[in-house]
This record gives sequence, structure tokens and C-alpha cells, in this order.
Amino acid sequence: MAKIEFNHVGKRFPDGTVTLKAANFTIRDGEFFILVGPSGCGKSTLLNMIVGLEEVSEGEIRVDGRVVNDLDPKNRNMAMVFQSYAIYPHMSVRDNIAFPLRLAKLPNTEIDRRVDEAAAILELTPLLDRKPATLSGGQRQRVAMGRALVREPQVFLLDEPLSNLDARLRVQMRNEIARLQKRLGTTMVYVTHDQTEAMTLGDRVAVMNRGELQQIGIPQALYHHPANLFVAGFIGSPAMNLLPAAIAGPKLHLPIGAVDWPETIKDGAYGVAGIRPEHFRLAASVSAMPDTIIWNTSVERLEWLGAELYVYCEIRLPEEWRNHPWPEALRERIGSDGALSLIARLDPSLPIRQGEKLALQCDRRNIQLFSIETTKNLGLSDEAQARR
Ligand code: ADP
Ligand code: MG
Repeated sequence: MAKIEFNHVGKRFPDGTVTLKAANFTIRDGEFFILVGPSGCGKSTLLNMIVGLEEVSEGEIRVDGRVVNDLDPKNRNMAMVFQSYAIYPHMSVRDNIAFPLRLAKLPNTEIDRRVDEAAAILELTPLLDRKPATLSGGQRQRVAMGRALVREPQVFLLDEPLSNLDARLRVQMRNEIARLQKRLGTTMVYVTHDQTEAMTLGDRVAVMNRGELQQIGIPQALYHHPANLFVAGFIGSPAMNLLPAAIAGPKLHLPIGAVDWPETIKDGAYGVAGIRPEHFRLAASVSAMPDTIIWNTSVERLEWLGAELYVYCEIRLPEEWRNHPWPEALRERIGSDGALSLIARLDPSLPIRQGEKLALQCDRRNIQLFSIETTKNLGLSDEAQARR
């Protein structure tokens, strides 16, 4: 059993830096839990607090109900794998993996048993007598994993363990770690700044920004129902399109067109609309229905990737919309001349060329609306989704 609970946990460094603000969440027993966020948002600090390498400034962390705030790291039965894994070049693979067990003075037969078992799981058995210099980057990373594995911890903590590997190896190791976690069934907390890695690996994903947890959920929930503008912009590649929006009459007005908007949002209010690139498609007709937008635009730039086609189009915001106090997530995308770039993901077999005129269509049910005050998603209830 290893359930990890955060009750109002905060972290303030001696110099006053606040790195974690009142975090409340639970990592379930046996769960593969991913923590993702931009560099510097506090992920490593949070992980170090779980393992006991950083003190807790406020609140409490419980493991299986027991408060561990003041528990010595070596009594927590947790193993951590870092990005810069230190394996000893003069030692064989076997000795590298056995290292923590020798340190703990386990009997030799027990050490051999655990090393052989870990090596088998990680497919390192034929390499046990080799020195690290003769191994590939992926194999070395597996040695570092093996060293964590032999301790048979109740929790694995991995801090960006694949960041130093090249893209192909990263994908391969990603699959191996996911398989390993399922096979062992041990609680695993995995930190990454890479949203693709986060979305493809775990059971649940926690998105963090500036010391605050933004949303925790299964990947599908984060993608389809982002709780706020940060999550909307961070999860998904290419990122969700964001546009200024205004409610007038029972309509939602966007710079690319207007649709009927039955939800009860006060007239005259502003918001930020979000549309995923795949939710634009070539317009089926020339005139829009009340629940669709047809946007007449032209192709600025194309990215053809074989299986995908990304079409970049630009809009020029009218003067009165440029200077509105939009949230940072939108403001940072608007050029000084009011230019805002939008991306549509279209069928890669379409013969679309740069400069060509296009009519793109988007349905109302694929438009999400966010508050400009709180940046929260305004249409999140399932009922509200179903009504659209
Ligand atoms: P991440 O792992 O998400 O990149 P970190 O947890 O390493 O982020 O750091 C979060 C923030 O805390 C950063 O702004 C970093 O500069 C700050 N920080 C980390 N360690 C200390 C420390 N010992 N004293 C003061 N600030 C720190
Ligand atoms: Mg870090």
C-alpha cells in the first residue's frame, strides 16, 4: 500500500521564494501519477518533499495515513530516479545495480536474487558484466532504473528521467517504463515538462504552473475539458487556438464570426474562446448555420507532416479588441499590430497551397469559453456540454 496525500501543503524557501501553494490532492495506491508543468514551476520541489529531501513548510504529507513530514528519507521506503543519473563508470552493471543493497548490508544471496530479478525485468541480464562505457544511453538509463528497482520501494519517484535521451530512445524508454509500472503495480510519480510524455504515460496527470496545481485528471479530461486557460494552452500540440470573444444578444461574437450562444452569460461580457486545431474543417456550404461559424481566410503557411496537415491562418483584430485587458495567455499571442495566428488541422491529402483562400467551419459545440477574470472554463458541466 502506498497512498500519498497532500493536505494544504506549501513550500517556502529560506529566501522567501514560494514554490508550492496549498496543494490538496491524493496519489492513489498503485497509480502511475504524472506531474507536468513548465520548467521552474515547482515539480522537483514537490517530488523532493515526497521523498524527504526538502522540508514541508506548511500542511502535511501522509503516506498510507501516516504523516511523514519529519520522517527521515531513508525510512520512507521510496526510490528516486533523476535526469542526471550517476552510475559509476568503474563498476560493472551488476555492481552498479547492487550498490544500494551493499550499502544497506543485505546478505549476498539476497543481493544476487534482487539484482537478477531487476536485470530480467529491465532486459539487462546479458549486460550484467559490462562496464557503463560500453552501454548505450538507454541501457545506462535502465541501469539507473535497476538501482531504484532492487530496493523494492513502495513508491518510485522519477524526475525527468528521459530528458537526456534522444527522441527515438525517449519514446522507447517511455513504453518500457509504462510497462514496468503496470507489471510492478507500485505507486509511481513521474515528473516531466513535456506534455506529450505526460499525456501518453500515466493513469492521471496533474498540471502545475507557478507553484499551483491547475487540474488533475485522466489525459482525456485535460484535453477535452481543460479547467482553465493555462491547461487549455499547455495541453495539446499544436496548442488550442485562443480568440477574444464577446457576448451580445444571445450570440457569441468572435473575430472569425458569430454563433448562437444559449448559455446564460450576461450580455456585454467578454471572454476568451478556445478552439482545437482539429475542430476546424473545410466548410461544407457557403452560408453558416446558427450553430456554426464559417471563417473566410487564406493560408499563411503550411506544415505537412505526412499523417497531418497544419494550416496557419492569420486574423487582424479590430482596434477596440486589441487593447482590451485580455488574460496573459491570450495577450501574449497577439502581435503589436493586432495579428493573431490560428491553426487548423486538416486532411493531409487535401491539395491546399500557401496563399490559397479557404472557408473553414467550426461548430458551436467545439468552442470552449473561458472567463477573462478567473480564466476558468465557463462551460464545464456535462449538462452544459450536452446542451450545445
Ligand atoms: P521544476 O522542477 O518545475 O523546474 P523546481 O522545483 O526545481 O522547478 O523549482 C521551482 C522554483 O523554486 C524555481 O523558481 C527555483 O528557482 C526555486 N528554488 C528551487 N530550489 C530553491 C532553493 N533552495 N532556494 C530558493 N529557491 C529555490
Ligand atoms: Mg525539475
